[in-house]
Amino acid sequence: MSSIEIDYKLDKLHEECGVFGLYKNDDDIDIVALTHDGLYGLQHRGQESVGITVIDNEEPYSVKDLGIVSTVFNSQNLSKLPNGKISVGHVRYTSSDYLDRAATQPLVMRYIEGSLALANNGAITNFPEIRNMLEQGGSIFQSNSHAEVIGFLISTHIIETKNIEEAILKTMLDLKGAYSMVISSPRKLIGLRDPHGFKPLCLGKLKNSYIISSESCAIESIGGTFIRDVEPGEMIVIDENGLKSYSCSKKKTTSLCLFEYVYVARPDSVIDGVNVNLARKKAGEIMYRENPVEADIVCGVPDSGLDAAQGYAAASGITYTTAFLKNKYIGRTPQGVGNDKKERLLNMRLNVLKNVVEGKRVVIIDDSIVRGNTSAHIVKILKNAGAKEVHMRISSPEFVHPCYFGLDLPESEDMISNQYSVEELKNKIGADSLAFLSIEGLHSIAEGCKIGLCDGCFTGVYHADKPKMKFVDRFAKKINKI
Ligand code: SF4
Repeated sequence: MSSIEIDYKLDKLHEECGVFGLYKNDDDIDIVALTHDGLYGLQHRGQESVGITVIDNEEPYSVKDLGIVSTVFNSQNLSKLPNGKISVGHVRYTSSDYLDRAATQPLVMRYIEGSLALANNGAITNFPEIRNMLEQGGSIFQSNSHAEVIGFLISTHIIETKNIEEAILKTMLDLKGAYSMVISSPRKLIGLRDPHGFKPLCLGKLKNSYIISSESCAIESIGGTFIRDVEPGEMIVIDENGLKSYSCSKKKTTSLCLFEYVYVARPDSVIDGVNVNLARKKAGEIMYRENPVEADIVCGVPDSGLDAAQGYAAASGITYTTAFLKNKYIGRTPQGVGNDKKERLLNMRLNVLKNVVEGKRVVIIDDSIVRGNTSAHIVKILKNAGAKEVHMRISSPEFVHPCYFGLDLPESEDMISNQYSVEELKNKIGADSLAFLSIEGLHSIAEGCKIGLCDGCFTGVYHADKPKMKFVDRFAKKINKI
């Protein structure tokens, strides 16, 4: 049996963040309830903190904390938020080792003309340089949040421009890397997407009110209608005069994260013209064409392996079935007790339906292998339940390079595909066969995408500058001890 150690974060990738904003033009709309519901629709993008800021009479009111929508918000704290004109919402996953409460978004910052509320999804690759430059100029920071640095840049540019639109456009020129943001000023709701378009961002409408959201699923979940994606390099400004669009740049090579289609996004979203559910099914079909195998049943690892498993089954004619029950009541990074807590947590999270797999040759589809721990565990529990053969198919290519743009991948040397060949890895996880989707196959699933695509963590080719230096927080441990 595999000797791979089980990682406490369950060896799964973590989404970065989800952003949401609403500009109310209808008196009968409850902006707090709708923002709350919209964040439920984006919960899959981050489960470590959540927040809502409402702007009423140009003043911000916030409820935010560590936790998920269902644990942070309640009727008591939400009733303290006014039914104002503009809202900004955020769900967050942090890639740092500690939970930085001060970085919980929306970040509300006072500037010369009032308050900004900022919610961001993405990683600024020149964050260390900008932060250093601002600190050298005397700025002080409450957190390591990229949104805080962006807020500082905006407020600095407002001094020169006296205009929020121009200040944000100037800020966009200062920033490198990935950011999809929702920002409120005292009278405006603003959405912006970096010139590469790494992270999704889209625009919707509910009656006469406007919605900006990371994904279309959140717009539809509150009864709204998807209008269009925010273009790479575009800034949308909504105020009492309606909606205006600005562009900071049209020159860059666009580069939407391909992993949105494999894992990050919800299957009922459409991103830059591609339906996520159909993209995942297509991944399954291509995987069968690239790596067929004789088997009795095909099943997926919940949740993002399920659609790809249906695609594999459709292409192969092998019966699709549910083999796993996922405990929905366990969080993404649950705490446990006892020496064997990590393995027990994995067991609690996924249960095999013994009667389904016993005596069967099983094709099991998962979205990725990062360190290999979870894959080894899945093979083990399938075999323990009586599966005769276990053939693992992965609906993405092998991770062999880091992501600099917001997905929390480990360092290259910690990725299992950099340590073992596919054959060795197959043996390590105890499977009877193992195959990954090809790079060409990955690009095929996003056929019809309206912008360019990023596959940097699979190929090492990035269409944007890599960070030139690493940010080191010299004071974090001291702050956490207090
Ligand atoms: S490097 Fe990988 S995870 Fe990061 S943006 Fe590109 S495709 Fe997505």
